Amino acid sequence: MRAAVALDVGRLEVQDLELAPPGPGEVLVRIAASGVCHSDLHALDGTLPVPLPTVLGHEGAGVVEACGEGVRRVAPGDHVVLSWVPSCGSCYYCRIGRPDMCDEAFAIQIQGSLPGGGMRLSGPQGPVYHFLGTSCLAEAAVVAERSVVRIAGDLPLDAAALVGCAVTTGYGAVVHTAGVGKGASVAVLGLGGVGLSIVQAARLRGAEPIIAVDRVAKKLELARRFGATDVVDASATRDVVSPVLDLTGGRGADFAFEAVGRPATIEACYAMTRKAGMAVVVGIAAPHEEIRLNAFAIPAASRVLTGSWYGRSRPEEDIPAILELYRAGRLDLDGLITRRYRLDEVREAFVDLERGELARGVVVPKEAGVRTSADGPARAQV
Ligand SMILES: [Zn+2]
Ligand SMILES: [Zn+2]
Repeated sequence: MRAAVALDVGRLEVQDLELAPPGPGEVLVRIAASGVCHSDLHALDGTLPVPLPTVLGHEGAGVVEACGEGVRRVAPGDHVVLSWVPSCGSCYYCRIGRPDMCDEAFAIQIQGSLPGGGMRLSGPQGPVYHFLGTSCLAEAAVVAERSVVRIAGDLPLDAAALVGCAVTTGYGAVVHTAGVGKGASVAVLGLGGVGLSIVQAARLRGAEPIIAVDRVAKKLELARRFGATDVVDASATRDVVSPVLDLTGGRGADFAFEAVGRPATIEACYAMTRKAGMAVVVGIAAPHEEIRLNAFAIPAASRVLTGSWYGRSRPEEDIPAILELYRAGRLDLDGLITRRYRLDEVREAFVDLERGELARGVVVPKEAGVRTSADGPARAQV
C-alpha cells in the first residue's frame, strides 16, 4: 500500500508500507480522495509537533473494504468520510455534549495511534504513526469505527473528502460556535478551504455584509463567488482593520473569524469585532505562539473571544447534513478544489499549498471505479 510518509521534519516521501488488517472496532477504508490541509503542512514542517514517521492526511473519503470484529455502524461497500475527532462518547466532554473537546481524541492525536493504542502501519524503517487517527494520504487506511461517517453512495468522493476537515470546520464555526444569524455582519481573515467555507456558511445564514480578507487576488475573487459582499486585499495594506470598520458603520463586525493561525491576524480579528461582538479563532497557530490584547478593552469592549475546533461539530450529524446542502446546490464544494494530484505528486501539492495558491488541493490515489466530481455533479443543477 502506497502512502505519503513524513519521515522527518521537512522530509515527505511516497513509500510502500505494510497495512495490517483492521483489529476489533476498526475499519479498512480504500481511500478515494484526500485533501491537503494546513495541519498536514504544519505536521511536516514541525510547527505541530507529532510523532514521526507518520502517514499524513486527515481530510479523506473512501469506500469501506473490510471491518474488524464488532463493527456495527458500517459494512463493506459503504461510502464514508473520515473524521479526525473520533470522540469516545464517555469522557467528561463527551458527556456534557462537547465531543469536539473529547479527551481521548486529543490523546490519540498526541500519541499517534488509533483509539485503543493500535498501530497498523509499518515500513522499512519500522512502525509508522497514524496522523490524527486517519492517515489518509494513502491508497488505504485502517481507522477506528468512530473515525468514519457513512454518507450517501452517489456523491462524488473528492468533494465529500473536503467535508472531513475544511468544510465542517468552517461551516461549524459559523453555525455552531458563533450562531451567525440573518443580517449579521461578518468578517473573515484567510481564504483557504476553511475561510471560504466560513464565507459560504455566512451567506447561507443570510449574513450581510460578508467581508473577506486575504493577500491573494485569486482567493478574493473566489470569495466573491462564494458570497463575500466586500473584499480587503491584505497585500495592499498593513491595516486590514480600518477597512472592516469602514464597511460596518465604524463599529466593527458582529462576528469576525480568523482562519490563518497567526498572532497578528488573531489580534486583527479581535480588533475588527464590534463591542460585545464575537471573535472566533479557527486557524491553528504553533503551540508556542502568544497574542497581545489590551487589558482595558476586555471589559470595556466586552467582546467574546473564543476558539472553534473542528467547527464544534458532531461529525455523524453534520457531515451528512452538509453533503445534503451540496446535493441541493446550496453549498459549492467542487469550486473549492483548485487542483487534483496523483499520490506521487503529493509533494507538489504541499508546495502549492505553502505558496498560498490553493483553496484546496486534493490527492486522488486511484480513480478506478470511484466517482469524483470530475465525472459530473450528483447534485441538483442550479
Ligand atoms: Zn485539516
Ligand atoms: Zn470523549
